Amino acid sequence: MNKYMEEHYQKAVDFHGHECPGLMIGFRAAFYAMDILELNFSEDEEVVCISENDACGVDAIQVVLGCSVGKGNLLFHLVGKQAFSFYNRQTNRSVRLILNPSEQEMTRPEKLNHYKYIAAEEMFSQTPTKIALPTKARLFNSQACEECGEMTAERWLRVQAGKKVCLDCFIPYTRLQID
Ligand SMILES: [Zn+2]
Ligand SMILES: [Zn+2]
Repeated sequence: MNKYMEEHYQKAVDFHGHECPGLMIGFRAAFYAMDILELNFSEDEEVVCISENDACGVDAIQVVLGCSVGKGNLLFHLVGKQAFSFYNRQTNRSVRLILNPSEQEMTRPEKLNHYKYIAAEEMFSQTPTKIALPTKARLFNSQACEECGEMTAERWLRVQAGKKVCLDCFIPYTRLQID
């Protein structure tokens, strides 16, 4: 790791709270994506990440690339895979990185070390992104829920018996659902 990476790694560990193999996976993915797509830290929404898991690694991606839920450039497609899609809005290029399975059985500290030093192109496979670049985050007007009166962003309101209601007041129609 060069000095720049070391600095960011420390920030990621501070943000996440501990060092672990999962954080290292996200950290390496973020730097590899930076290389491939010529990315910088995203002040606004130039860089978008869609993560296929909600585990430790996502925290490193937030710190390194500035993708965050609040800015709307960190999105989830939760299918439980160690895979991340990255998008560069300026060039319209994107890549999906998926962690290659490792053959040997390793303890956690061994794993951490393994992921720290392995070459990025050995660590991840690149595939084209499967999800189209999401549109920029939109701002939504809010309206009062006609049941509880609480202000709710329009896109979350539902119509129930002719009233616009929030999801807390909405009774889902699950008669045909098995679970
Ligand atoms: Zn962790
Ligand atoms: Zn309500």
